[in-house]
Amino acid sequence: MSGPIRTAEVLSIGDELIHGSNLDTNARWLAQLLECHGLTVERFTVVGDDPALLQRAMDEACRRVDVVVATGGLGPTLDDRTREVAAHLAGGPLWFDPASWQAILDYLRSRNRPIPDSNRRQAEFPPGAVVLPNPVGTAPAFRVRIHRAELFAFPGVPREMKRLAEDHLAPWLAKLPGAQPIAQHCLLVLGPSEALLGERIEPFMIAEREPAVGITASGGLLTIRVVARGFDLDAARAACEVTAAEIRPLLGEWLLAEGEATLAELAVGRLIARNVRVAAAESCTGGLFSAKLAEVPGVSAVFLGSVVSYANDAKVTALGVEPQLLQQHGAVSEEVTAAMALGVCKRLGAQLGLSVSGIAGPGGGTEEKPVGTICFCLCLHGEVKTWTLRFPDLGREFLRERAAIELLAAILRHVR
Ligand code: AMP
Ligand code: MG
Repeated sequence: MSGPIRTAEVLSIGDELIHGSNLDTNARWLAQLLECHGLTVERFTVVGDDPALLQRAMDEACRRVDVVVATGGLGPTLDDRTREVAAHLAGGPLWFDPASWQAILDYLRSRNRPIPDSNRRQAEFPPGAVVLPNPVGTAPAFRVRIHRAELFAFPGVPREMKRLAEDHLAPWLAKLPGAQPIAQHCLLVLGPSEALLGERIEPFMIAEREPAVGITASGGLLTIRVVARGFDLDAARAACEVTAAEIRPLLGEWLLAEGEATLAELAVGRLIARNVRVAAAESCTGGLFSAKLAEVPGVSAVFLGSVVSYANDAKVTALGVEPQLLQQHGAVSEEVTAAMALGVCKRLGAQLGLSVSGIAGPGGGTEEKPVGTICFCLCLHGEVKTWTLRFPDLGREFLRERAAIELLAAILRHVR
């Protein structure tokens, strides 16, 4: 690989983060921004407001990498210390910027907010800092050279951080000479275990490979992520596609879909494209499949509704499942899921009915139907397909998630 590869770290600052009250979502967002501009994010550091620890974290980060993006600790109160610490490391006292102070006054006045004197601290900057004005809050950001790094310091509030990063960090990154943007391509896989998939695509998974190939697992759904650099984004995308084209034939039926969208987004997109209206009858998933559908904007065009028929009685009264069917085959049977899917199609007037009934445990398992046995049905335009899967008993949460994913995948497999 030629050209300078620049390295980056994200430094997230705030007691609320290390106490676990707030999730560090800024780091994830910033990493994506940095990577798509061709930087390699080597590390996330999360540190509290303690000044000694913050100083150590900032000092070390600024020695390790070329770009450090800090968020948090720019507030007006004394526990916000990013400015002081950066000034100390930059080797001098804070300086007061009258223009920033005026901007803060204007911002507070325009909102009829009181102007406490403590806000003046937000107009102070480390020596050599470039001020990055904040149009959406009081705390201006700044950029300053510390050791080998350019340190960007942004507010912690995600909305302000994003705006400032888009206004000031992204254009700065875009001008870096020789930057090699990164593209990624995802292949969504359902069926094999992570280990089995790893074996199938083993030659692609060596550590130094370019483009890099990795597998991540979530609720039984596996994502193969291909990541490549290029001299521009098109070149990076083309490199991803070369590797994706080599992997694709190895996956066969396991390959569900490709791209950045979630499985629910893909399933809903397919239903909208084919103009198929869906209804669901959920037992062991308790509505989880419907909840996943409901997360997707625009789903109302195709999602009629669901019946969460947990008890046998509810399957009879709400869906019209014959009591004898339940007696003869048990609630967890393909016969019953077929009746559930047909019932919900009929009652809600859907073209596509999906149903699920399974043993989520911890109790209720038998030798014939152990915990993890889950029956499904997909009924499309009156045509019924049932199937049973036996998942490992990794707990109720896993089984509910896995079953809901199976129904989303069934949409992609059968609504062509
Ligand atoms: P600060 O700029 O340190 O005053 O942070 C203000 C608020 O922004 C905090 O109370 C959090 O709610 C939020 N926040 C700070 N840092 C982060 C982060 N890394 N990820 C998500 N939210 C954050
Ligand atoms: Mg804070």
